[in-house]
Amino acid sequence: MASATVAEEEYLQILFWLHEAGLPMTGANLARAMQLSAPTVHEMVGRLEKDGYITRAKNRTISFTQTGSAHAESIVRRHRLIERFLTDVLGIPWDEVHEEAERLEHAMSPVLEARMLAAIGDAKTCPHGHPIAAGSRIEGVPLADVEVGASVRILRFENEAEDLLHYLKQSGLEPGLEGTVAERDDSEVVVEAKDGRRCAVTASVSETVSVLADPSPAPRTALPDQLVLGQRYGR
Ligand SMILES: [Zn+2]
Ligand SMILES: [Zn+2]
Repeated sequence: MASATVAEEEYLQILFWLHEAGLPMTGANLARAMQLSAPTVHEMVGRLEKDGYITRAKNRTISFTQTGSAHAESIVRRHRLIERFLTDVLGIPWDEVHEEAERLEHAMSPVLEARMLAAIGDAKTCPHGHPIAAGSRIEGVPLADVEVGASVRILRFENEAEDLLHYLKQSGLEPGLEGTVAERDDSEVVVEAKDGRRCAVTASVSETVSVLADPSPAPRTALPDQLVLGQRYGR
């Protein structure tokens, strides 16, 4: 496999996130998710194509080549594995591991990856609920769509920007938490956990929280703006 640059790996990773979330892989969605300008993204997309990681259709939709898809999957897998290792083995809070994983994921040998995988035991997701093995994602619905009175289980935080993770951590929500939607209006959604704690998040944050709900609203894909992954892209 050709060796990708760190920047190329970042792009492949975001493309994979778009693909996983059911969003079209386009330059426009990439630019939105990475908070970069269209020309910057255009240039890098050209490089990814030249290096054999992606192809572009006439309508500008991007597809992974076999190499590209394997590379994207491995970088995403490493990211999630590192996050799980940092929380479960090193005891770092889950709202502080995303940026660390961003740094470590590019410099990881297969041997270290195998050791980390052994160290996390039977955990199947990152601490934010994203599957470590590609293709094992459970579909959910946005918390924002769930009606008052429905029971919910938190599946995943779709956006891992650390400021958002700090906010979610403070709210008391976390993947695996079960409860009931107690209140919902234009400004916030309140989930009452089984232990009686009330976890409130703003309506816009509730768009980024995927849940299993009963009764469940109809599934829908996320909006690209909700997948902005980190402030560091905004620089
Ligand atoms: Zn992350
Ligand atoms: Zn994560």
